[in-house]
Amino acid sequence: METPKYKSGNQLSSKSVLIWRIIQSVLWLIGAVILFFLIFYPLIGINLFWNILIPITPALLVVATGIWRNICPLATISLFPKRIINRKRRKLSISAQGKLNLIGILALYLIVPLRHALFNTSGLSTAILLISVSTFAVITGTIFEWKSAWCSGLCPIHPVEKLYGTKVLLSVPNAHCHQCMNCVVPCPDSTPGIHPSSAKKTIYHKIGGFLIIGGFPGLVWGWFHVPDHNSLTSFTQLSEIYKLPLAGSLATMVLYWLLSQVFDKKQETKLVGIFAATAVSCYYWYRLPVLFGFGVFKNDGMLLDLSLMIPAWTMSITVVITSIFFFWWIIFRKQEKKSWLIRPQYAPEVKRQL
Ligand code: SF4
Repeated sequence: METPKYKSGNQLSSKSVLIWRIIQSVLWLIGAVILFFLIFYPLIGINLFWNILIPITPALLVVATGIWRNICPLATISLFPKRIINRKRRKLSISAQGKLNLIGILALYLIVPLRHALFNTSGLSTAILLISVSTFAVITGTIFEWKSAWCSGLCPIHPVEKLYGTKVLLSVPNAHCHQCMNCVVPCPDSTPGIHPSSAKKTIYHKIGGFLIIGGFPGLVWGWFHVPDHNSLTSFTQLSEIYKLPLAGSLATMVLYWLLSQVFDKKQETKLVGIFAATAVSCYYWYRLPVLFGFGVFKNDGMLLDLSLMIPAWTMSITVVITSIFFFWWIIFRKQEKKSWLIRPQYAPEVKRQL
């Protein structure tokens, strides 16, 4: 990727803008192709989406959240209306921002367990999910300013970005907002070291921060202890897919609450880092063996069966190394706080108000 170039202030040169637009278009096309496969060739579509794209994303969020923010196909589609008609859009109040964040977290808690009953095994269900969220993304991007309502509001991936992206490797140029309208405060893209508890402006922000930091490691742990079902036919089945993830979530929330009584305010970032590192390590601890045929529920979420080709201990060593890496990266690595993206110049009318 090319080194950022700025014409003046933090504005990207037209050549850099063009490069980012090409990358965004390619990623958007890949998204459209995956959607096609999900509908017409579900086995391939499920493999592409759930067994390749999704397993890569958490690591990318940890290392370079800004790159994901610049290339995510949902962001591209949400901001497309603003790009074609660049007029001023509605600004959300702080309280509305907190409410949207909280709804995004609740949507995450609702959707993730449902993968076991619907999305992991049904290409069409996954396609409907993607079309639905894309519709929300476009509608919110049409009404509200820049990323405020979708990318930094309702998007169910956004809370995970905030949890994992506390110590990014680099700040990349913002390839979406060409002028900052100060549409979300604090802007998650432009605030160094942002995490889910950084903004405690309203009760919604506080509840959201607590749910994602405290509950996510347990949700991930519980999720990997539930097998896939081929359909959703009874209430018992529904309760089975939610029981362990929610119980796990509750357990880690209690632990988080207890630890937050011990850690003082200055150590809050460290505590968030411990829970973030636990969640992402737990994800790869279970996901890597599952991907390569060493999972407990043999065929669930498998990409490639290597179980007869390599000894099981190689997988154990791999997951220990990935966990050490994430704990080192998020907790122990010394690094000055960086923002995911570099804030573009403020629009003149915003500059006058600041
Ligand atoms: S950089 Fe500015 S315009 Fe873009 S999302 Fe952040 S606050 Fe909004």
